[in-house]
Amino acid sequence: MLKLQKYQQKIRKYKVKLKRIITRIGISYSEEFELRDEALEKLILPCQLGILFFGDYDIHFFEKIKSKLNHIYNSFFFNIHNLGVYNFSSKTFSMGVKKEHKEMKKTYEKIKIHPTNKFYQILIDKRIEENLGMIIAITDLPLYSSSDDNILFLFGETHLKHRCCVVSSLRFKEQSYISGDLHYLFEQRVIKEIIHEIGHIFLGPGHCLDNSCVLRFSHEVKDIDQKSFGLCNKCKTKLDHLRVINNF
Ligand SMILES: [Zn+2]
Ligand SMILES: [Zn+2]
Repeated sequence: MLKLQKYQQKIRKYKVKLKRIITRIGISYSEEFELRDEALEKLILPCQLGILFFGDYDIHFFEKIKSKLNHIYNSFFFNIHNLGVYNFSSKTFSMGVKKEHKEMKKTYEKIKIHPTNKFYQILIDKRIEENLGMIIAITDLPLYSSSDDNILFLFGETHLKHRCCVVSSLRFKEQSYISGDLHYLFEQRVIKEIIHEIGHIFLGPGHCLDNSCVLRFSHEVKDIDQKSFGLCNKCKTKLDHLRVINNF
């Protein structure tokens, strides 16, 4: 009996410790964003891709994104669909919002940062509704990662299991690090990050170490400017392998 009590005590202690660890590494155990996905089957290639906008973008932007994606991921998409602009209800807009001091600036103004899971749930529902293989969101809102809420102001994130990605263009309006018109650079940066995130769905969570490869990880906006739109030969070979095993 004494042994059982000791054992129960040990389990209780362990539970407290575990909760502390979970809090520290930032995994949310709130049920607010437990993702629901009723169509979790394996991705079949080629597939249909949808792009959903959260914010105001140039009306020609979608066509530019589509043309670059078709060029880089030639034959991987049957079609790329413009899903238009999503309007948050005030309830969904405030869900999971975290307020943080404006980064690097001495100001008392706080900005609202949104969790990636909020976007993922909207994307999952839309992916099912529109019968898409994968889906991507482009937003001008600041993001934090739902898998680690210490990661703030993300450029982009992908949920491999649910085949959806979100890219935040917020920081891409920063100065030019290379010569060129800022609006042109802004669009190039967004497109590179879209190609990068979709690359994760095809090739997995790893990053490429090749400097010019679009699948290299970018710490700063400057890093995005320095990489190209395309994949290096090693990543291209992996993509070709996917074509072969999927027979297209
Ligand atoms: Zn990445
Ligand atoms: Zn590469």
